[in-house]
Amino acid sequence: MSHAGTLYIVATPIGNLEDMTPRAVRVLSEVDLIAAEDTRHSARLLQHFGITTKTISLHEHNERSKGEELLTMLSNGTQLALICDAGTPLISDPGFSLVQTARAKGLSVVPIPGACAAIAALSVAGLPTDRFTFEGFPPAKSLARQAFFQQLRCETRTLLFYESPHRIEACLKDMADVFGGTRPAVIARELTKIFETLHASTLHELCLWLTQDENRRRGEFVVLVRGAVTEATTGVSAETERILRLLMAQLPLKQATS
Ligand code: SAM
Repeated sequence: MSHAGTLYIVATPIGNLEDMTPRAVRVLSEVDLIAAEDTRHSARLLQHFGITTKTISLHEHNERSKGEELLTMLSNGTQLALICDAGTPLISDPGFSLVQTARAKGLSVVPIPGACAAIAALSVAGLPTDRFTFEGFPPAKSLARQAFFQQLRCETRTLLFYESPHRIEACLKDMADVFGGTRPAVIARELTKIFETLHASTLHELCLWLTQDENRRRGEFVVLVRGAVTEATTGVSAETERILRLLMAQLPLKQATS
């Protein structure tokens, strides 16, 4: 029989504390140790739920060195939970190396699901949800960001991005330049919080909307962009579409398409 402990990957709220699940509270209360991205930040959450479990910090800069220590503890029977500042660990947050190595060593890794900003945004955006691709944070510098978007220009699945308030405006501008101003998109801001905002339009209009009021550029953002509409998705080639548009401008619909 194995005496090794279990690694629990525990989601926490992305704003509204009511989104903390009872199971997350129980697991965090019962484990021996909680690895947190920022122990001081998480102390407030843990205190709110009366959780007194000891915490240790695991962030992107010490993930490898601290990870080794945590894996040894797990192998020796410590029950360990991983949390991040908000939402689901590993989703644009630390933990990948820990989970990968734990699984490679045959240790038990258990998800305690809950909030995730990308999925929350997708569930309300009104864009296709049958197929989507999560792209995390676009590069910070404009040139690299444009190149990054170029690679996604023909992607037909709904695109999901995270963005920070000080880059949201420049990011949307680059999106409009590369994907085209008429591409439908949605800004999901401050989800589950007081100033929760969902604004759907075209990329061009979203750029204007952001510049009109500085409050709209505050907080945390998920940006969703509708996938490209290509020949493969419509069954209509670009040339056929061009001719159809010309005909439709001139003829009644039935005649143009017959
Ligand atoms: N692990 C988190 C998750 O499960 O969503 C994401 C962590 S990532 C470091 C932080 C980014 O997530 C923010 O910059 C923002 O893009 C997005 N985000 C987090 N909370 C959000 C919220 N309440 N509303 C909109 N976006 C949010």
